[in-house]
Amino acid sequence: MFEILRPGFLKLDRLWEERPMKRHYDVVIIGGGIHGLATAYYLAKNHGVEDIAVLEKNYIGFGGSGRNTAIVRANQRTRENVRLYDEGLKLWPDLTDELDFNLMFFNCGNLNLAHSEAALSSFRLSINTANFCGVKSELLDRESCKELIPALDVSDRPRLPILGGMYHPPGGVLRHDAVVWGLAKGASAHGASIQQGVGVSAIDTDAGHVTGVQTNKGPITCNKLAIMAGGYGAAVCAMLDIELPIHPLTIQAMVTQPLKPFLNHVISSGGYHIYANQTLKGEIACGAHMDPQVNYTTDATAWYFKHQAEAMVELLPCLERVRFLRIWAGLADMTPDMAPILEGNLEFDGLYLDCGWGYFGFKSGPVTGKYMAEYIAREERPDILGPFTLDRFLRNRYMGETATTMKYGHYD
Ligand SMILES: Cc1cc2nc3c(=O)[nH]c(=O)nc-3n(C[C@H](O)[C@H](O)[C@H](O)COP(=O)(O)OP(=O)(O)OC[C@H]3O[C@@H](n4cnc5c(N)ncnc54)[C@H](O)[C@@H]3O)c2cc1C
Repeated sequence: MFEILRPGFLKLDRLWEERPMKRHYDVVIIGGGIHGLATAYYLAKNHGVEDIAVLEKNYIGFGGSGRNTAIVRANQRTRENVRLYDEGLKLWPDLTDELDFNLMFFNCGNLNLAHSEAALSSFRLSINTANFCGVKSELLDRESCKELIPALDVSDRPRLPILGGMYHPPGGVLRHDAVVWGLAKGASAHGASIQQGVGVSAIDTDAGHVTGVQTNKGPITCNKLAIMAGGYGAAVCAMLDIELPIHPLTIQAMVTQPLKPFLNHVISSGGYHIYANQTLKGEIACGAHMDPQVNYTTDATAWYFKHQAEAMVELLPCLERVRFLRIWAGLADMTPDMAPILEGNLEFDGLYLDCGWGYFGFKSGPVTGKYMAEYIAREERPDILGPFTLDRFLRNRYMGETATTMKYGHYD
């Protein structure tokens, strides 16, 4: 019976190939997160552009892509966002098949809780927008919330009683590491080169074109350069003296000890600044609002443990005395209107930019990668990316995502 443990029998193939780094690529992507990897994957697969390097200063998934709570949904506030996120949500099952890798998509549905009349009104707006765009989202009264999640305390006991909720059945969760690894596998299988431990310290330009990057492993030249550096996007753009309206803020998340299954949906509450779901391992994974100060730290703080514990027990009293096991933090690149900046030929020919996702960048990763790949390959902005320009901030054409998200409960 011990035969199966012979050395070599359990040897698994690496998911992606470690290729030697070249000195020139057609396309260089800065950032080995979900956006960089998805763009590399679709560039190679859909457009036959295989001479690509994804440069990652640490390891793939080091940024927000390996630290998020992997909640996906499409009931954003504005039409432009709903369209993008809806396509993104529908992409997960296909992507799982295409990559031949289990991304662990669990279509459990999301329930946002309202604790005030104002929150209910803002949910009505979001629901109307979603329904107008053909996305399922509905208003529940407090009894229906309880039916959906029997452990919820819908009595008048909590400091902020639950008045109702916005239920979005198509949403759910995935496993974030699996998405990073699956995309790396797919990108590499189609010819892209993933270079870990390669940090970009400067960007080279000549006569209005980007020409390459300086890295800790030497210079690399390229025809096109895409900055997809998540929370560090503004810092990378600053290498070209491009100033972005982005504030990096820390978000913390944590998990409890594993419990028997009792929470079959994602729940979130803007009133309590919390979102939570039960993982397949049984842990309650929950996340908090962002730290208020602009900073680049990924240190966690004890304050959030206390805050999350108090909030969770208010909503789900059965969690009293359950222990948190781990806490971690990552960066969110916040724009003033909580919508991303997606650009091509930005100030320099051949320069592409995908950043400003705040806490929505996981759910948007593959779909944005698909369209950024199209943008880079065809040099023509796909219609769906049209609204997400940088100059909307100069023209005072902010997108209306902030109004409902900040105050009433879209922290996921
Ligand atoms: C705690 C937390 C919870 C979240 N929850 C959710 C959620 O539930 N749903 C959701 O949709 N989103 C969520 N997010 C947001 C989401 O994780 C991010 O928006 C998303 O991962 C951004 O992906 P990315 O590929 O753009 O960037 P990242 O994953 O941050 O990748 C960028 C990479 O660039 C690398 N890099 C930076 N500078 C350089 C350089 N100079 N040279 C080379 N490499 C460089 C970094 O090391 C990093 O690995 C959450 C974020 C956090 C922190």
